[in-house]
Amino acid sequence: MSEDRTEFDQRLHGELHAELLAEYSLETEAWVGERLERVMARLNAVRQDGYPLVAHCLAIPASAAFTTPAPHIYVSRQLLERLPTDDCTAFVLGHEVAHHDLRHLDLFQGWTHALPGGVVGSLTAAVFRHLSHRLYGPERESQADQYAIEICLDAGYDGERALQAFDILENEILNRGDIDGVFGPENLLDPTDPGRGGMAFEIQRWMWTRARRYLPLRERREITWAFYRRRLVERAAR
Ligand SMILES: [Zn+2]
Repeated sequence: MSEDRTEFDQRLHGELHAELLAEYSLETEAWVGERLERVMARLNAVRQDGYPLVAHCLAIPASAAFTTPAPHIYVSRQLLERLPTDDCTAFVLGHEVAHHDLRHLDLFQGWTHALPGGVVGSLTAAVFRHLSHRLYGPERESQADQYAIEICLDAGYDGERALQAFDILENEILNRGDIDGVFGPENLLDPTDPGRGGMAFEIQRWMWTRARRYLPLRERREITWAFYRRRLVERAAR
């Protein structure tokens, strides 16, 4: 009989990790590893339970962070070098931590069986890099943002500096020419539209986020900032 599913997945994700590092781990500057280690140690220390996660920098031609069911988080060099502070880095890594701690990665359980044998490394890497955040869907993405700011605060990072990550990501997305990705579809943008906030507006917005499997970044930022302000008040009261 075939080996246990979980075991198979684990082996495969181990192979994927080895392949990613072999192909894209070209870092030569010490600050990169030091920053990742420093920030991950602080985040791991305040997580409730679970296996410690390790962050790695990859020289991929993208501005992205992603994770897989293995205990590793990847951030592209291009994104990492644009993050001005450890606080901001903590938010980006914290979002990936959230996908582990909130069990979003369960979505991928057993999915590797759908792949033909022998294509493991590069194909799975591409799937995680390009698709994983969309596969989680808009609700889980928002949960991950909120979890990220929460553990940033628990770890003693400055919330406002952490949330600067949204400004950096916005620049990166706009640099790619993806205006919709930041602001949402044009017809939902007009702030003077009397229908804004109405049923038709909400339905259109809902359809757009489902089709794209993502909230516009500005909306993610607003939701996360609102959550942060609320949590500040609650934390001060306890
Ligand atoms: Zn995500």
